[in-house]
Amino acid sequence: MTKEFELFDRMATHEQVVFCNDPATGLRAIIAIHNTALGPALGGCRMQPYNSVEEALEDVLRLSKGMTYKCAAADVDFGGGKAVIIGDPKKDKSPELFRAFGQFVNSLGGRFFTGTDMGTTMEDFIHAMRETNFINGLPEAYGGGGDSSIPTASGVLYGLKATNFTLFGNEELGTKTYAIQGLGKVGYKVAISLLEEGANIFVSDINNESLHAIELASSDLKGTLKIVPNEEIYSVDADIFVPCALGGIINDMTIPKLQVKAIAGSANNQLLADRHGIMLKEKGILYAPDYIVNAGGLIQVADELFGINHERVLAKTKQIYHTLLEVFKEASLTGNTTDEAANAMCEKRIENRKTRNNFYSAPLKPKWSIRK
Ligand code: NAD
Repeated sequence: MTKEFELFDRMATHEQVVFCNDPATGLRAIIAIHNTALGPALGGCRMQPYNSVEEALEDVLRLSKGMTYKCAAADVDFGGGKAVIIGDPKKDKSPELFRAFGQFVNSLGGRFFTGTDMGTTMEDFIHAMRETNFINGLPEAYGGGGDSSIPTASGVLYGLKATNFTLFGNEELGTKTYAIQGLGKVGYKVAISLLEEGANIFVSDINNESLHAIELASSDLKGTLKIVPNEEIYSVDADIFVPCALGGIINDMTIPKLQVKAIAGSANNQLLADRHGIMLKEKGILYAPDYIVNAGGLIQVADELFGINHERVLAKTKQIYHTLLEVFKEASLTGNTTDEAANAMCEKRIENRKTRNNFYSAPLKPKWSIRK
């Protein structure tokens, strides 16, 4: 393929990429639909001051592909998509910009559902939803499921139980030691639950207020808490490292420091590169793939199509435990890394759906019309 057409090559595994331009509001966005074999594409909308269209396109293509795997692993009836808005979330937002974005989403006729991600808030999508029904993750007052960090934290705890079971033959949370990086919406809830169970936890956060809050809360709880400086969180003598802050933290610099037996946390894209999964395996550290462990929020967002029911969401989130055990078992049988085993499981789920007998039946209209 010549250089002139290389853009099409880069999108070769994507179904559709839509450039959205609205000079009146300053909206410049890209929506990428990676794969809809399992259902309409689902993925948040990120707003970031990208330096170029190239950088924004790279991000949206990578993130939308990731959503295909995440949806398949969580066993929800959605495929992978993502949107990026090019702009500074602190300066460039306006209600009209998000309404314009909502119109573009609507123009896809239900092939793409979206909501908040880095740089966007639920409030932004209250504007967008005035133009389209294909928004999820809204506040409860607007018919959405509300705070997704609750099921995400719950999913992390199921992930830790499955990891404990694989490492120690019992899933008990309270008898182990954990190193938690980041005490934000997810990490704080995970830390509190572990302390309630009686666990020993090491924690770090760049925000002193978060550290102060956990210190206050821990005095009434069964477990023990130790705050460590940010760089030390990688090298503490704990059973499991629980990353709940940044991506890319499993890399050439941090792997040599790790003393833990396993890693299981909510942070997205924990491995800086695929080869770091191999390095973990060689070091004998069990890695729980991030996109399986942190799927609780996605499960809630997907579940909105059936109406809001938090109990049902938490029950579905429990499946993370079984999915993770399946991935650990498959990795040990095949000799693959857990990341490779997880990807293979997702690809098989997608292939199975494509080859299934897909005869015509009544349209699923009521299921897809959440806010009519
Ligand atoms: P958050 O912004 O509420 O919390 C992140 C916390 O990490 C903050 O307290 C921040 O001060 C801290 N932090 C940042 N840099 C740090 C560093 N170098 N060392 C230690 N702490 C640091 O975010 P969140 O919603 O709790 O999400 C945490 C992670 O989980 C993110 O990677 C997010 O993408 C991922 N995730 C979250 C959800 C969800 O439902 N919230 C769902 C899936 C994945």
